[in-house]
Amino acid sequence: MRGSYRLGQAFGIGVFVHWSFALLLGYVVMTTLAGGGGWVIAFNSVVFVLAVFACVLLHEFGHCLVARRYGIGTHDITLLPIGGVARLERIPEEPRQELWIALAGPAVNVVIAAALSLAAVVLGVAAPPTGLVMMSDAAILYGLIYTNIVLVLFNMLPAFPMDGGRVLRALLAIRGGTLAATETAASIGKVMAVLMVFGGFFWTPFLFLTAIFVFVAGQAELQAVRERHAPRGNPFEEILRQAFEVHGGSAPPKGEPKPVRGRVIEVK
Ligand SMILES: [Zn+2]
Repeated sequence: MRGSYRLGQAFGIGVFVHWSFALLLGYVVMTTLAGGGGWVIAFNSVVFVLAVFACVLLHEFGHCLVARRYGIGTHDITLLPIGGVARLERIPEEPRQELWIALAGPAVNVVIAAALSLAAVVLGVAAPPTGLVMMSDAAILYGLIYTNIVLVLFNMLPAFPMDGGRVLRALLAIRGGTLAATETAASIGKVMAVLMVFGGFFWTPFLFLTAIFVFVAGQAELQAVRERHAPRGNPFEEILRQAFEVHGGSAPPKGEPKPVRGRVIEVK
């Protein structure tokens, strides 16, 4: 992605961060100081945001490593202020593969939330009375537990092409085929996008960006699936092609369907 800088590499996958990520950190510091939080809370808040994005990165690796089990590579992972982008080489045609790849990301956050909860119990760290104000290590710890649970719930919304929407599409596709499943999942995704716009007014403006992503990316992937499943060539060419095949001649090249471009985009 343009404007991204390489952070490093893990499991053979390059990890990048977009320059706009700096704006997020700047925003966190400014709003904390403007709210009278002081430099200690501002510093803790930056540590918290970085820790959250480490969890987002692990979520992305969850998708990528399960995809690799199915022979699907990952171009790279990029961190943006609204979440992570894992560019898979393709989206699997087999619904069960898509199901497990989609579930793997949120599953990582479930494991992180469980591990941190266990750590809080074992270390005897009590929930801070300050809630999510980053005044202490305990606030960071409990903030991370809370955020990982929110990441699981939010990503599992049936808003195709978010993770929950992919799970829905995969489950529908097992019974009814990919095209019909994608039509249904994309329609439900658009309803979710409208609900997110309402949520944006009442909760956080980030939901506006999520709504746009769900609407645009969902429609683009639906279109790609439609094209892939559309009948190709004119009937005469098809008859000619079959005739060649029946008579053992070399068939005229049949347009290879383009694979659906793989792009798992996370919006947190
Ligand atoms: Zn995900």
